[in-house]
Amino acid sequence: DDSRPDLLQTGPLMPMIERQLDTHFRVHRLDGPQGAAILDTVAPHIRAIATGVGASGARNNVTAALMDRLPKLEIVSNFGVGYDSVDAVAAGARGIVVTNTPGVLDDEVADLAVALTLSAVRRLPQAERYLRAGKWPQGGFPFSPTLRDRSIGIVGMGRIGQAIARRLEGFDRPIAYYTRRPVEGLAYAYEPDLIALARKVDVLIVIVPGGASTHHMIDAAVLEALGPNGILVNVARGSVVDEPALVKALQDGTILAAGLDVFEHEPNVPAELIALDNVVLLPHVASATHMTRNAMGQLVVDNLTRWFGGEPPLTPVPETPVPPVRKG
Ligand code: NDP
Repeated sequence: DDSRPDLLQTGPLMPMIERQLDTHFRVHRLDGPQGAAILDTVAPHIRAIATGVGASGARNNVTAALMDRLPKLEIVSNFGVGYDSVDAVAAGARGIVVTNTPGVLDDEVADLAVALTLSAVRRLPQAERYLRAGKWPQGGFPFSPTLRDRSIGIVGMGRIGQAIARRLEGFDRPIAYYTRRPVEGLAYAYEPDLIALARKVDVLIVIVPGGASTHHMIDAAVLEALGPNGILVNVARGSVVDEPALVKALQDGTILAAGLDVFEHEPNVPAELIALDNVVLLPHVASATHMTRNAMGQLVVDNLTRWFGGEPPLTPVPETPVPPVRKG
């Protein structure tokens, strides 16, 4: 007698997650040999979804159409604090709870944001490539721009944005930020207009959620305002930046440089970006350490096991009701 709830796994997850899911659930894989055809038989029984990044590196979308095929669905547990690939509003309307992995990755992502900022400003990857290419004996690496004469703007001042700002305080540079509402009790200058912030600073670090409300928020006009000495750092989501506009701005000197951890069509990075020397490119690694990915993975599992143990999930997203309607 197998009383484990049926769970749909949309793509590969870390082995430590999959092992635990297999213990607590009857797992059905959307990325198995049958593909989506598996839904024809299992859809009526599915009570949970575990979702994350697909085999290609692209995220698996949990859409309203998928939820509508799963009448017993109660919970969607998302690997990652960003859940723009899950239609959380549609889930809320259907009484389905969505969970994400906030908090456990703030410091890790903030560390990486600072590293990427310094890499872009001081041209550290370029300098390393110079050494490896054997060019040092012919002359020293050209002088780089500096952080010393810059002011810093942060777009998004939530959990991670604040962790970035705390670190940057140690660099003794002015910090200002843009969000829709000012954050109580912060000493940094609040700027209610994104273009005005871009005009005021020469490093712009982006750490807002993805999704419709931030889509192409960093567009040609913002890049123009950031200006020819400006450096853009994106650790948020690729969708937040108009990528073709950024390529053009980097090519024609509208801005000076960029540091990017995320891209519009991951894992595909435009050849034009790869060809540019004034951009530092990382394959979406901001939270990707053993320690932090394990903490995120455990939260994906714990949200699910708590829910089916009759307790509220640990980290529901704001769009979904808790306690939502139980159907099981
Ligand atoms: P929070 O929810 O704590 O903070 C989000 C911040 O963004 C808030 O300050 C919010 O302020 C602001 N914001 C949201 N929507 C808008 C908008 N439309 N315009 C302006 N500001 C907006 O999130 P976290 O700090 O935990 O995470 C932020 C994002 O970082 C995640 O959603 C994820 O996409 C990304 N991320 C990327 C990682 C990577 O690997 N590169 C790793 C981890 C996270 P307000 O609502 O007042 O506008």
